Amino acid sequence: MDYPARQKQLWRELERAGLDYLLITHLPNIRYLCGFTGSAGVLLMAAGSGVFFSDGRYQEQVRREVVGVRATISRKPPLIAAGEWLTDRGRKSKLKVIGVEGEYLSAAARVGLSRHLGRGFRVRLAQPLVEGMRLVKDADEIERLRAASRTGAALFKVALKAIRPGTQETEVAAEMEYAARRAGGEGMSFPTIIASGPRSAMPHARASAAAIPARGFVVCDFGVILAGYCSDMTRTVHVGSPTTASRQMYAAVQQAQQAAIEMVRPGISVGEVDQVARKILKQNKLNRYFTHSTGHGVGLEIHEGPRLAAGQRQMLQPGMVVTVEPGVYRSGSGGVRIEDMVVVTARGCEVLAPVDKELITI
Ligand code: ZN
Ligand code: ZN
Repeated sequence: MDYPARQKQLWRELERAGLDYLLITHLPNIRYLCGFTGSAGVLLMAAGSGVFFSDGRYQEQVRREVVGVRATISRKPPLIAAGEWLTDRGRKSKLKVIGVEGEYLSAAARVGLSRHLGRGFRVRLAQPLVEGMRLVKDADEIERLRAASRTGAALFKVALKAIRPGTQETEVAAEMEYAARRAGGEGMSFPTIIASGPRSAMPHARASAAAIPARGFVVCDFGVILAGYCSDMTRTVHVGSPTTASRQMYAAVQQAQQAAIEMVRPGISVGEVDQVARKILKQNKLNRYFTHSTGHGVGLEIHEGPRLAAGQRQMLQPGMVVTVEPGVYRSGSGGVRIEDMVVVTARGCEVLAPVDKELITI
């Protein structure tokens, strides 16, 4: 990972935003900028330099991981250490503006920081500058996302073996999660979703103690973290023979997902991708059962920008990695979702881990 290049880019962003410092507390942003993978640290970036603050537990890890910025180990909490470090440098000079990540700094932490800052500083909520940089993935990141996607996709085969009438949803999830670990996964991107029968009508139903019924859809939504990067994929299978209505529902979602994938290319807005999926479901009179957005960015975090949702104007650019995941959820009968991760290329997009999407009956 080219951390110095990212730091340089952020310096330019700081100047453009009129900030003397950006205080970065969101751990994925810290990892993105300097490589630190631990769970306690604060990164203070100024135009032309950066200092990373952590505590004694991370001394060795900081030495191994942190690239391109100065590292300071302190006995105090990293945010306080950063505040005091700033105070030492702020007294004689003119007023300095410190940007903070409002989405991630609690109100209490912000008050604590202000208390430890001397005069001469103004704290301001910063725009999501690092998130903006993370929208477009570099070649190293795309490689990692591809590897994570492939490892994640292989778990679907495990699910197919485990899904049987009478088996608990958690048993299916357990088999998948064990296989993910055996394949080198650091963890799951999110709690595995195995939603069977009527539960499949809940888009975010985590695997429960419920037994898989003799007939109905099973939504499997799962992802693995590999080398820091997340995968995300959904396949829906049917236990027992599907009704005509169930077949039609599945076919409509499959068609909507395929059309949305074919829409993904540079110069198209994320809102347009969402729209095409909705249009196809509308033709099938199912659009009112599609209750979430069409997709989201994926990277160091499972949900990142851009959001593929109605009215969103963000333009797709080469290097963006997003999910395409329309779904239909009918209370009482069940739900279908199909999800793939794609990387935007110069002319279109590439599905990172292609897996067959025809309806599988178990
Ligand atoms: Zn998913
Ligand atoms: Zn997703």
